[in-house]
Amino acid sequence: MQLIDIGVNLTHASFAREREAFLQRAQAAGVCQMVLTGTSPEDSEAALALCREFDPEGRRLFCTAGLHPHEASQWSADSARRLRDLLGEAPVRAVGECGLDFNRDFSPRPAQERALEEQLALACELGRPVFLHEREASERLLAILRHYRDRLPAAVVHCFTGEKRALYAYLDLDLHIGITGWICDERRGTHLHELVREIPSDRLMLESDAPYLLPRTLRPRPKHGHNEPAFLLAVLEEVARHRGETPEQLAARSTACARAFFELPQL
Ligand SMILES: [Zn+2]
Repeated sequence: MQLIDIGVNLTHASFAREREAFLQRAQAAGVCQMVLTGTSPEDSEAALALCREFDPEGRRLFCTAGLHPHEASQWSADSARRLRDLLGEAPVRAVGECGLDFNRDFSPRPAQERALEEQLALACELGRPVFLHEREASERLLAILRHYRDRLPAAVVHCFTGEKRALYAYLDLDLHIGITGWICDERRGTHLHELVREIPSDRLMLESDAPYLLPRTLRPRPKHGHNEPAFLLAVLEEVARHRGETPEQLAARSTACARAFFELPQL
């Protein structure tokens, strides 16, 4: 079985001492390719450096380059220049993580919208897919995306946690949907059980969002308490169960979908 984890925060400090071991455990669990998430120009440069360090042949590790809505107030002409440079490098496969987060509002909303629009324009110009973050901001995200959608090759709403209305609107815009271990959370993720059935196979991808979102269904729970790409199997099993598919079927379909979206090589 081959799995692709489309959202790994491998630059995160909690991975720092053990990156090699995390990557080996992921391989052993069938996670054969990963897309590392870049959340700022610096972080995206660090993600690119990790791709080169741990996968010099460029077949297993890839990354995105973007500015997260939490950091959006730092957007500048320099951010745009650095992201553009990064997107010229082979392992960098998408613009993002970018988007809107009206749940935490770490950056003012006008700054979030400006950084998002600049990154969408860059993706349109370069013909690259987009890795989107949205929390409690689906209406605004949809309104902004509609202006760019015709010129964007593809976009994924990563870590989808919303309601049916937002999901249908995203699918109407022909977006992809990323599902994380949020669906394994009996306190806040059970509404996703019936929604994952509504996502077409060629629009559904899986992600750990490690080191965040440790699947609460995971047994035994790891001592270090962080999520890892190796635990993507728990997400696979939960999503497959609610879609009425076998884990093998869902793995094959979501892997084919991710490979097409990020243009990853066959292994
Ligand atoms: Zn995110």
